Amino acid sequence: MASLTELLPLPPRRPFSSRSDGRQSCSPSRLKSPFLNFPSTTRRLLSSGCHVAKESLISSSNPGGDGTADGYSVDCVVVGGGISGLGIAQALATKHGDVAREVIVTEARDRVGGNITTVERDGYLWEEGPNSFQPSDPILTLAVDSGLKNELVLGDPDAPRFVLWNGKLRPVPAKPTDLPFFDLMSIGGKLRAGFGAIGIRPPPPGREESVEDFVRRNLGDEVFERLIEPFCSGVYAGDPSKLSMKGAFGKVWKLEQSGGSIIGGTFKAIQERSRTPKQPRDPRLPKPKGQTVGSFRKGLAMLPNAISARLGSKVKLSWKLSSIKKLDGHGYTLIYETPEGLVSVKAKSVVMTVPSYVASSLLRPLSEVAADALSKFYYPPVAAVTVSYPKEAIRKECLMEGELKGFGQLHPRSQGVETLGTIYSSTLFPNRAPPGRVLLLNYIGGATNTGIVSKSKSDLVEAVDRDLRTMLINPNAVDPLVVGVRVWPQAIPQFLIGHLDLLEAAKTALQDGGMEGLFLGGNFVAGVALGRCVEGAYESAAQVSNYLANYAYK
Ligand SMILES: Cc1cc2nc3c(=O)[nH]c(=O)nc-3n(C[C@H](O)[C@H](O)[C@H](O)COP(=O)(O)OP(=O)(O)OC[C@H]3O[C@@H](n4cnc5c(N)ncnc54)[C@H](O)[C@@H]3O)c2cc1C
Repeated sequence: MASLTELLPLPPRRPFSSRSDGRQSCSPSRLKSPFLNFPSTTRRLLSSGCHVAKESLISSSNPGGDGTADGYSVDCVVVGGGISGLGIAQALATKHGDVAREVIVTEARDRVGGNITTVERDGYLWEEGPNSFQPSDPILTLAVDSGLKNELVLGDPDAPRFVLWNGKLRPVPAKPTDLPFFDLMSIGGKLRAGFGAIGIRPPPPGREESVEDFVRRNLGDEVFERLIEPFCSGVYAGDPSKLSMKGAFGKVWKLEQSGGSIIGGTFKAIQERSRTPKQPRDPRLPKPKGQTVGSFRKGLAMLPNAISARLGSKVKLSWKLSSIKKLDGHGYTLIYETPEGLVSVKAKSVVMTVPSYVASSLLRPLSEVAADALSKFYYPPVAAVTVSYPKEAIRKECLMEGELKGFGQLHPRSQGVETLGTIYSSTLFPNRAPPGRVLLLNYIGGATNTGIVSKSKSDLVEAVDRDLRTMLINPNAVDPLVVGVRVWPQAIPQFLIGHLDLLEAAKTALQDGGMEGLFLGGNFVAGVALGRCVEGAYESAAQVSNYLANYAYK
């Protein structure tokens, strides 16, 4: 088993999203740790004052800003070229172009996409970060606006999802009418959930509740242990005893608040929806059927790449923000490390979509209080381990009509396996593996297993393979082909108890400190799901536009 990672000798991995535009990138050694390790010359220069930036200006002919003698001068700088930053820039360009005329997106890496990392090689196409998205209207709008309508792929809405319980993979109910028939919960557990949902349960405790406390109180222990606890692993790689119900699953939390119970709140929400006049749905958007997830023909990276291609020279790759200073009056000066040296940018407004720990250190000189609040958010490590087996390796009892069917499976922490969950990548979307092979993406680690950072990649593959052989793969199957192993040391921000208060404290401190026109965005603000990042991007773009229209330079 120790030699599992050697089964597929891997050439240096090149993200699918890597440069195709011929623009310059950083040297490989700098790219390995984009957030760390200023070159010593830069450190020296920065400590001697901002004026050094003028010594290595990019010529004024560079597009994307007006290229004044101070470098660039723009209406808005978006810091971070993940889906949040790109979504903001696209929305500013398409919806708010009247006030946000000059916008640039700056990204420390030599590629866009942030966490989104699709790789293609040897007949396999796989994701090393997020795997898919819920096809909500905002993300579909972004995809259609980016010219990707015909590239969209959706999972089969009738395919089951499984939870491992007592050694067996059991389907999860897809709709309420399935509830009486599924065997994941006992009759007593189902009754407890039903009574709790209509409000026969202890009242809210009057303090911010964890996901675990909220669900045990409202829906009972079985719903928590067999459905919600593994679901928290699937979405946050999180610990439900510490995640905040209000912060992490705000929509469900609100149901109880507004309607006195989960069902009461659901009816109220339906009534309210039927009273408010329906906005006509954008006719360009595809209509996904049922509960499904989406991606693109060549993986998620198609989305950031398409947005970036549309934004063109507004996207600045290998531009790592190293400091930000408030100008007297309105606006900011940002200093970047770039392949051409230090570059200075003057901006009327700035949106930070970098992870909160990066924002914290960049913003410390502007507001100690905001920086302290931002430094408290927690990002546990997660590894994405992608392996392939021949079809015959799948256990007979897991096949339907001779095929592995379904979205994938989640593993409650109580079930004695280390892997958080497994996505059936080659079943979910077409053309992800050569014929006769099954491609499985496994997530391992998270808030309850942070020790994965000190494990070798072959240890992680071994753990995943060992787990899979207990329920999905025949125990005597051949060793898997190791397609890719990616460890994210700080993967997903956890919306823990107190998260929303800390976020508010950071925003208030910036406001009180006179940092108008400086906005916080990204997944630790909007929510971690890609769809929430896109909704948050539209909200940030509207805030910037409002600021530029009403306040900037007045
Ligand atoms: C392993 C994993 C699996 C996931 N699975 C799913 C899933 O299946 N479905 C789903 O909906 N969500 C999933 N998520 C969550 C989702 O991927 C993220 O919430 C989302 O991609 C975050 O996008 P973002 O733009 O806010 O941040 P990021 O993607 O983190 O982008 C921030 C960008 O800022 C850049 N940056 C950092 N410092 C600087 C600097 N100094 N100067 C300039 N740029 C800088 C970074 O290089 C990065 O590109 C997953 C996340 C991970 C890690």
